[in-house]
Amino acid sequence: MTKNIARLPGPAGSTRQWQRRAACRETDGDLFYHPAGERGADHDARDSRAKRVCARCPVREHCLAFSLRTRETYGVWGGLTEEERHALLSRARRRSGHRTPA
Ligand code: SF4
Repeated sequence: MTKNIARLPGPAGSTRQWQRRAACRETDGDLFYHPAGERGADHDARDSRAKRVCARCPVREHCLAFSLRTRETYGVWGGLTEEERHALLSRARRRSGHRTPA
């Protein structure tokens, strides 16, 4: 199974171009999303394998920007896990002075 790109942007515009060049299109899509209950070393090993695909992907920056813009909830996108993207967005919010209501 290749990565599910159904959640990527629609067919209009230049974003479609980067999707066509995605390295993960030729890869097992399960690699990028952790199955329910996956923990510990298995979780880390799968994320690492996914990140290795991203590291050689010619559209990694486009993918990461897209996933951050759309607040993609799950999976490895642009070489970052969901936890890493969440941390990146949180740091950016703090730097911009945004405060989350208590
Ligand atoms: S950066 Fe990773 S997830 Fe994004 S398109 Fe490339 S291979 Fe796929």
